[in-house]
This record gives sequence, C-alpha cells and structure tokens, in this order.
Amino acid sequence: MATALLVLDMLTDFTSGKLANPAARQITEPIAALIEAARGREDWIVVYGNDAHRPGDFELAVFGEHAMADSPGAEVIDELTPQPGDIVVPKRYYSAFTETDLDATCRVRRIDRLVMTGQHTDCCCRHTSFDALVRGISLVAVSDATAVYEPLTAGRYTEAQDDALRYLRTYYGAEIASTSSLV
Ligand code: ZN
Repeated sequence: MATALLVLDMLTDFTSGKLANPAARQITEPIAALIEAARGREDWIVVYGNDAHRPGDFELAVFGEHAMADSPGAEVIDELTPQPGDIVVPKRYYSAFTETDLDATCRVRRIDRLVMTGQHTDCCCRHTSFDALVRGISLVAVSDATAVYEPLTAGRYTEAQDDALRYLRTYYGAEIASTSSLV
C-alpha cells in the first residue's frame, strides 16, 4: 500500500494570475518540502492535480476563464515544477478524480492514503476528498500546505481555512496534520 502526495492547482493563474491568491505564497515552501520528502520515499508518489480548462467548461461560468489548457496560466509555479516520476493529472472540474485517470493511477499504484496539499481547501481539496472517501482512500489534510481563496474570505482568512479543514475532518474523516509531522 502506498501514499500519494496530491498537489492541487499550484498554478500561475491560482497564485499570481487570474485567480491570484496571496495565501498561496505561504504554502509554497511547505509543499516543496513535502514533495522533496515524498520523492525520497519508495511508497510515496507525487501527483499534481492541475486545472487545464477548455473553452466552455461549466466551471468557467462560475469563476471566469482561468488555467486554460496549454496557456502560461495553467503551468505549475517554478518552485514546484513536476519532475520525472511525478504524475500530472489535468482536470476540468474541481475534483482531481472527475473524468481524469487519477482513479486508475490510485488502483495501479495501490494508493490507500492521500495527503492533500494545495488549493483551495474548501473547493478542489474538498471535492477531491469526497471522491477519495468513496474509494476507500484515507485522507490527510496538511494544515499549513493548503489554502482557501483569500479574496473570498472577507478578512477572515484564518477562520475560513480552519472551517474548511474542520469540514474535511468531520465529513471525510481526514486527519489534519502539519508539514513538520510528515517530512
Ligand atoms: Zn478551474
């Protein structure tokens, strides 16, 4: 059995571009540390779940155009560039499982635990977590390596992030862990 470190939407559009999130800056270093640790472990893999939208995708009606496939905004930020051996999953919905090959990857690689990082804690992390739950995959949400979308939090970023983590724990049984406990 194995662990997948999931890195969600750490893309240019989600950090400094169309959906720029100031809170993404503070989670970049913890994610980098987790990636480095994961790459050094035989029973861990690193999986990137990356928005790669096509014109007309339903979600664009909600958030506007962002992270369009093959555009600079859809590229993983330089600090977290995928390396050979990592798995990159392009996605068109919030969940990294919806109409992607992540399910097959998890079965082939015998993944029974997902360590959740990236953004947003209350959106893509949350929807991906539900899809992990229904597959019997256990969850760890990393408190200092996930972030909610700060522009939508109306000055209560910390509370919104805490609420999002609490939801993952309450409804999906996620263990809430810090980066330092995992590296
Ligand atoms: Zn999107």
